[in-house]
Order: sequence, then structure tokens, then C-alpha cells
Amino acid sequence: MNAPLPASVTRSSPDTADLARRLVQETEGEVLFDAASRSRYATDASIYQIMPLGVFVPKTARDVAMAIDIARDLKAPLLPRGGGTSQCGQATGAALVMDFSKHLRQVLALNLVDSTAVVEPGIVLDHLNAQLKPHGLWYPVDVSTSAQATLGGMAGNNSCGSRSIAYGNMVHNVVGADAWLADGSSVSFGPLAKLGAKERAIADFVRGLADSLAPEIDERWPTVLRRVAGYNLDIFRPRSERPYTSDGSVNLAHLLVGAEGTLAVTRSLTLQLAPLPRAKVLGVVNFQSFHAAMDSAQHLVKLGPSAVELVDRTMIELSRANPAFRPVIEAALIGAPAAILLVEFSGDDKAVLLRQLQALVELMGDLGLPGSVIEMPDEAPQKSLWEVRKAGLNIMMSLKGDGKPVSFIEDCAVPLEHLAEYTDALTEVFQRHGTRGTWYAHASVGTLHVRPILDMRRDGALRMRQIAEEAAVLVRKYKGAYSGEHGDGLCRGEWIRWQFGPRIDDAFRAIKDHLDPDHLLNPGKIIDPPKMDEASLFRFPPSYRTIPLKPVLDWSAWNVQNDPATETTTAPGTGGDSTGGFAKAVEMCNNNGHCRKFDAGTMCPSYRVTRDEQHLTRGRANTLRLALSGQLEGYTREDAFTSAPVKEALDLCVGCKGCKRDCPTGVDMARMKTEFTAHYKARHGHTLRDRVIAHLPRYAHIASRMPWLLNLRNRVPLLARLGERMLGFSARRSLPRWRRDSFWNVAGSLRLASAAEALASSKSVVLWVDTFNGSFETENASAAVQVLQAAGYAVHVPQRPQHRSGHLCCGRTYLSTGMVDEARARARELLDVLLPFAQRSIDIVGLEPSCLLTLRDEALVLGLGDAAQTVAQHALMFEEFIAREARAGRFAPALKPSTQAMRVHGHCHQKAFAAIQPVMEVLKLIPGAAPELIESSCCGMAGSFGYEAEHHAVSMQMAELSLLPAVRAAPDALIVADGASCRHQIADGTAREALHVARVLANHLA
Ligand SMILES: Cc1cc2nc3c(=O)[nH]c(=O)nc-3n(C[C@H](O)[C@H](O)[C@H](O)COP(=O)(O)OP(=O)(O)OC[C@H]3O[C@@H](n4cnc5c(N)ncnc54)[C@H](O)[C@@H]3O)c2cc1C
Ligand code: SF4
Ligand code: SF4
Repeated sequence: MNAPLPASVTRSSPDTADLARRLVQETEGEVLFDAASRSRYATDASIYQIMPLGVFVPKTARDVAMAIDIARDLKAPLLPRGGGTSQCGQATGAALVMDFSKHLRQVLALNLVDSTAVVEPGIVLDHLNAQLKPHGLWYPVDVSTSAQATLGGMAGNNSCGSRSIAYGNMVHNVVGADAWLADGSSVSFGPLAKLGAKERAIADFVRGLADSLAPEIDERWPTVLRRVAGYNLDIFRPRSERPYTSDGSVNLAHLLVGAEGTLAVTRSLTLQLAPLPRAKVLGVVNFQSFHAAMDSAQHLVKLGPSAVELVDRTMIELSRANPAFRPVIEAALIGAPAAILLVEFSGDDKAVLLRQLQALVELMGDLGLPGSVIEMPDEAPQKSLWEVRKAGLNIMMSLKGDGKPVSFIEDCAVPLEHLAEYTDALTEVFQRHGTRGTWYAHASVGTLHVRPILDMRRDGALRMRQIAEEAAVLVRKYKGAYSGEHGDGLCRGEWIRWQFGPRIDDAFRAIKDHLDPDHLLNPGKIIDPPKMDEASLFRFPPSYRTIPLKPVLDWSAWNVQNDPATETTTAPGTGGDSTGGFAKAVEMCNNNGHCRKFDAGTMCPSYRVTRDEQHLTRGRANTLRLALSGQLEGYTREDAFTSAPVKEALDLCVGCKGCKRDCPTGVDMARMKTEFTAHYKARHGHTLRDRVIAHLPRYAHIASRMPWLLNLRNRVPLLARLGERMLGFSARRSLPRWRRDSFWNVAGSLRLASAAEALASSKSVVLWVDTFNGSFETENASAAVQVLQAAGYAVHVPQRPQHRSGHLCCGRTYLSTGMVDEARARARELLDVLLPFAQRSIDIVGLEPSCLLTLRDEALVLGLGDAAQTVAQHALMFEEFIAREARAGRFAPALKPSTQAMRVHGHCHQKAFAAIQPVMEVLKLIPGAAPELIESSCCGMAGSFGYEAEHHAVSMQMAELSLLPAVRAAPDALIVADGASCRHQIADGTAREALHVARVLANHLA
């Protein structure tokens, strides 16, 4: 049995009902006190989990002030939170969690004269930088989590970016902070000379402490740039090798930087901006030994680089194993190096940068490594290489099984002259404890990330303690900082006293007592921290158990264990998971928060429009994990999984597969939703609408005989309203139009090859026509036939053998409604027909991404054996097939030129399976065509989702995020979209017709 989530680490709980009631009555913010909402805020990107008292999402600054007052009245602890991406547990706590990221995210002022910006704490770094870019400015603390980290959280953690050697940490780039103290009063912290009376008194108090501790500070305070532990008492006795201010003055705002929300709640931050560098050059230095790479860092930094980043042999090999990244990484390698260092120079004058690059080449020669540098003066290859580095880390994080790379000593910082010795010694520590780590990141500032693989459900805590203690000895020996980037939190709090000694630690307590006498702000962090290995605070304690569950899909690939020492993984199905691997797949979510991104890619459309943790991949994974492990308060272990909170969390998941592609650990929420829906419907039953959607392939051919009758619903508003009431299809939507000339009814006129002819032909292809194109969009299927035949292929279109007019279906509509047995039966029938062709290596081409790609995805986990594998290997989207054949010189029909602009919208599943580039490639076969890809997430229609009355509004919001505005902005362009639902959404939203790529090609056949 799992122990219940710890409700408090430091104090008895206040009356949460009172707290919730007053927040509802006295503020405009969102008050989330139900068990599922609280659970979703119980974790950050650390190994810890603590149930909050409640969650409050303020809409205005007034809401925050009110919440602080109410919390103080009721003696409820408060925990301000941004993206929740902290790695040490500082964003978790038995407190009222206040989420700033949803509403408080404005740039309040931008001063172009002194290059400063005043921002609310909830703004995400990338969003800020997007607003600064037109002004030639950026905020240069470029953390890896820039797409989801908020400025409030970055200040809370004193975050540091890859380019900290050039720009410093947060503390070097914050020039002012307005905040509320725990007593509700407002303070405005900034340069000492400009402080008001209240603030000056605080400054005097801190100065007094610093003065009285001068000898201790001089003796014990790490001087490395990357020291983020404790409070910044050194504002009054500077110790950092990079001063916090350029003129040596004191800025009281720096006291709050790195305080992890324990001293004050930030209302706004004034940031020092930097000019965007106009140019960058990169030198990739290849080393035959890891030690040599580490040893050279101290010399490289003297050249003035903006970054020196490490990629070790394991990362190199992982990147090489990925076909997409192999050419990029290999372009950076000389032979088979043990490590490479990416040395970047940036600035305004490219000529100067090129000279610096030359100096790097010469330096390496002087250091006895001539010819070790690959020079990359152009930005495109540089960008690709940085992406490879990121991807390598992602692959490492995707390790399946209970052993995971654990972050707890991953940002110790040591002076560069000791870096080689330190990394050698730490590698030996790992070996002694039966594990190993992969090294990467910031060699320039002596902060190398390394995560030993530990199994927290077994002996992980013990090993963590031993490794931490031995690492600490090394850090002290080399006069480094134990916490050099990710803060203290629950993981490193106990090391503060070790690092600074009892007197400085007592001074930290005095600062806390002075500013937050009742210890209401983020208690248990920095002051009175728990032990790092306190098992009751772990997300996966040794007592963690999942419920027994027979999954309907095959999750055995996740049901494995791994050996930390060798990093080998056991065979699928041997991991001992009581849910057959489903729970372990869910547990792959490590809460890094990458799904909160808004940039290119699909993930996660429902979060993009709601900004709710509940409607985020991470929130869904957490809800599922807690339900599967019986930790969802208010539900029994048996009932939790199929409960209302889980359904609600998955409700807006459109099954776009964005997470399958974009999540660093490959969390495939669409597949998880199918698994859930099957169990949920088994318990609660199917609705009439479920049946109408699911059985569409079954009744489609009958419907095509009486289209006039069924299409009445689209013409008569009363019928549409009736349909909404009875079936739940939105009356504001047109439904796909039935037609008598369905593809099945006209296929006879198309000179199609029989199965025998296709099998006998030397140039044949199977065109599998799905329910949607076959029933509603005859033109697409006919166009595909026309194009393939024009290129000389014998085209066979398979049909259900036993039904004259029936067609073959992949089972997608059944999967989406949780009817997995029916889906399996339909998919099996399809595979039986397709298998003989696949066995003869005849390609199976499809037009609808969600249907064809089911053959390469869900069909493989339906228990359909080798046939599914064989067919999957030959299942291609129409455009994938054409692009490949064109590249091989087998597709070359004459095409008429085009002068019309083209905009392409990729279906989510095309994006998830990297099948969007072929669309562009195929369109470029048309002479003169210059297609442009619309940077869009999901269109919002997503199968039946957008037709459902309760989802119509969200569906339209998703479409309005980028797709529909992009279509409207190109009134003369030809819009290309391969997904049936995407075309419908574009038509509904813009009254424009989008074409399948097959039709575009057919229209250009000479
Ligand atoms: C994969 C990965 C990579 C990372 N890479 C980096 C990196 O390159 N560099 C780096 O420095 N860190 C890195 N981190 C750690 C983390 O992303 C950063 O520290 C980030 O800045 C935290 O931002 P957040 O919005 O998620 O803050 P949260 O985690 O939500 O909060 C961080 C702290 O700030 C406090 N806080 C938040 N808002 C307020 C407020 N309004 N007032 C007062 N206190 C507040 C919180 O209480 C908490 O103590 C990484 C994490 C992950 C998972
Ligand atoms: S779902 Fe993926 S991207 Fe989102 S937090 Fe979990 S691991 Fe990260
Ligand atoms: S499938 Fe799409 S909507 Fe669902 S969680 Fe993943 S990215 Fe979000």
C-alpha cells in the first residue's frame, strides 16, 4: 500500500475549508481545492511529492494581496509557483500553492533607453524574449527550460543559463523587485541609494548580519559564479567572482533572488536586458579523453567565449544512433572522440568572432591538440548542433524501468582548474556505488550536469545519500559550491549548514525571522529543511504500489527494469508492473514541464488554450499516476482510475500525439486516453453518440444511399438543434456531407488493378481508402488513383471481401470511443487483406493521416502479432510514398507549373510521425511551387472532438491560435491540408476550401 501523500512537513493543517471559502468570497481568482487539482500541484521536476493544502490561481495583483492576507489570518503556509520545473522540490509543499503562470504574465514596462523591462512574475522567458526581439534586445539568462520557466521562478531559484559565463546568473540581471512580505505589506527592493524607509531598515538588518560574520563569509562562502544556495548575504560582502552589480553598489532586490519564495512573494521584477548578439560562431573541439576536455576548459574561457558546453561520449553515441541527428553530430566530429566541447563566440562583429575562432584553433594547437577543432562559422549548422545536444539529453531521460537518472548533485560547481580532477573522482564514486552518469552542459563555469541512475523504489535513497556525501567531500576539497544552478529545495536544504557553517546558517534564519516571522512562506525550504532522503516525501517511495489492472493495449515495452551499472534493460513484459506496463508508461512523465511550451510543434493544444494544469500532458500524467497508485484522495484504489477526476483531466486531450513526438520522454497521452476510455466505458457504459461515432465505418455505405435525408440536418437548423440535444453534436457545426457518389460507388470506373494483377505487377501499389475519404471526399481518393496511374503504377484498392460495397477500416473510430475489441476486429480484417501485399513488399498507401498512421501505431499494440509489424513496415502516407519514389526516380509524370502561393497545414499525426516534410517535398515537384508550412498546433477538430457540443468552443479556440489567422492572412494562397477534420475546421472557420495534396498533384498533371 502507498502511504497517503504527506499533508504537512512542518505544522498541523489549518482549516482548509475556511481557506477555500474565503478565497472564493474575497478574490476573483480560481480556487482549486479538490483532491485531483491539489495532486497535480504536489510535484515539480524533482523526486519529491507533497500534497498542497489547496491551489489558488490569482487573476490580479489584488487577488495575490488578498490571498496573502487570508492565508496569514488562517495561519496557512503559502507557496508561490511558476512553471513548477524546479529540480529540487522547492515548488512543492504543504501550503496554499499560488500559481502565477496563468494570468500574471504581462510586460508592465519597457525602457529602451536603459534597456530594462518590468515584468509580472508569471511571464515565461521565451515569451518575454519574443516581445523583446523586435527591439534588438533579449533577457540573457537562457535556461534550458526557457519555453516554460517563468521569470518569478527563475528569480526564485537564481537560475543560470548556458551563457552565464558571458551574462551571469539571475542575480546579475535583476535590478529591482516589488514584493509582498508575509505580513501583507508591499516592499520595493532596488539599489540601496533609492530605498524607502522600510526597505532601508531591512537592508540595515542584513548588513548588520553580514558585517558581524565577515570572517566566516570570507572563509566559507564559495567564490564560484555558480553558487545559488542559501540567501545572498554576500550582497554586503561580495564574494562571487562576478560582482552582482557593475559598479560595486548594493541592490537589495538581490536578497530575494534565490530565496525560493521563502522571504517574499514577488509582484514584479525589473530586469536588465542585453542587446541581441548579431552574430555567433562555433568551434567544436574534439578530445580523445574526457579528462583532457575537462582540463582544457580553464584555458578556453580565457578566449572570452559566450558558452563552453560539454557533450560526452554517451551523448555522442546516442545522437549517432538517431538517423535524423547522425549527419549533424558527425559533421562536428573528428574520428571517435571521448568528448566534445562546443565553444561559442557571439557579438556584433562577425570578423571579430572569426578571429576568436582562429584563436581557439591556435590555442588547441598550443595545448598539444592541433587539428582538433571543427569550425562552424554559419548559424544553420550551429543551430542543428545545439538541438542535437538537447535531444541527446532527452534520449537519456527516456530510460525505461524504475531506475532513472536522478538529479541531486547535478549542479555542483567547482573552479575550472579542478574540473578534471573533480569529474574523475566523482566518476569513481559512481562506480563504487554500482552506477554511472552521463556528463553534459556548462564546462565554462565548472557546472557539469550528471545524474546517476538510481531506483528510488528500492535502494535509491541509500545510494543517493552515500553518493551525495562523497560528492560533498569533493566539492569542499576543490572549494566549490554544492548547489550551483538548481537551488536548495528539499534536496539540498540540509547541505546549506554544511556549506556555510552554523553561524551563517543562523544568519539565514535571522533573515527569515525578520521578513517572515511566522514562517508562512514556502516553509521547509532553506530554513528547517527535511533530510534529502526523507522517504515520506518521495514521489516513488519504497512503499509505492500500483493497482492490478489488465490493460486493453499492449504496454509491455514499458514493463521492464534496467541495470544502473550497465544500463541494460530487461525483456519487454518482465518489469513486474501490476498494470502490464501501463503505469510505468505513465510514470515516464518526470514533470519537467516541457509540455507547457507554446512554440513550434503541437504539444499541448488543450493547455495552449486553457493554460490549466489539468489540461496539460503533465497534469494528465500526474492524475493517471495518482489514480493508478491509489493516491487519489476520496476514491478507493479500485474506483480511482475510472473516476470523474481522471475523465475530466483527459476530456480535452484531443489525441493529437503532439506529446508522443514533443515530450522528451515520449509520454503518449493519446494512447493512454484510449486505454482509459476503454476502462471508463466498460464501467460507465457507452453513450448514443459514442455508438454513432464508432460505428460510422459500419453504416457509411448505407448512408451513402440516402444522402438527401441525412444531409437535411445540415440545412434545417431545427434538426441540428435536435441533433445536439439527442446526440450531443454541436448545432453550430456542419457535419460531413453524405454523397451518393462516394468513392465506393464510383470506383468501378477507375481502371483499378485487381489483387491478383497488383501482386503480379512489377510496379504496383495498394491504395487503402479510408472511411472518410471514401465516404465524403471522393475527389481525394480519385485524385490519388489518377496521380499514381499517371506515374505508371498498377493501383489496387482493397475492399471488404465479404461485402460488395463495404470498405476496410483501421478501427480508429472504435479506438476513440474505447471500443477496443471492435477496433481490434476491424484492424485484423484490414491486416488480413493487406498482409499478402506487404509480404511481397508492395507498399500500402493511405490518404487520411489518422487512419493510415494507425497502422504504424495503435495497430502494433492491439495484440495482432507479426502481421501488424509486417504491414506497418509497408504502410506509407501518399506523400511519403511519392516523395520516396520521386527521390528514386520512379515518379516523374509531367506536371504543369504553379504560380499560386501555397500554405500547408500539417495534421497532428503527420507531425508526430515526421510525415510533414514529404508533403513539402511533393508539392515542390510542381514547377514553380513554393509551399510554406503554417506553424500551427492542432486544428482543434481532432476527429469527432470539434463536432461535440461541449467541445465546440475549445475546438475553435485551438484553431484560432494560429491556423485560422494564418489562412486568413493568405487570401490568395492555395491551402493544403491532408486531414479530413483539418479541412473541415478550415472551411468552418474561414469559409475556404483546403485541398489534400493528392488533389493538388492531380490538378497539375499535364
Ligand atoms: C529539464 C530541465 C532543465 C533545466 N535547466 C535549467 C537551466 O538550464 N538552468 C537553470 O538555472 N535551471 C534549470 N532548470 C531548473 C528550472 O527549470 C529553473 O530553475 C526555472 O527557472 C524554474 O522556473 P519555474 O517557473 O518553473 O519556477 P518554479 O519551479 O515554479 O519555482 C521556482 C522557485 O521560485 C519560487 N517562486 C515562483 N514564483 C514566485 C513568486 N512570484 N514570488 C516568489 N517566489 C516565487 C517558487 O516558490 C520556487 O521556490 C531545469 C529544469 C529542468 C526540468
Ligand atoms: S508529459 Fe512529457 S513534457 Fe510534459 S512534464 Fe511530463 S515528461 Fe515533461
Ligand atoms: S495527445 Fe495532444 S492534447 Fe493530448 S496530451 Fe498529448 S499533446 Fe495534449
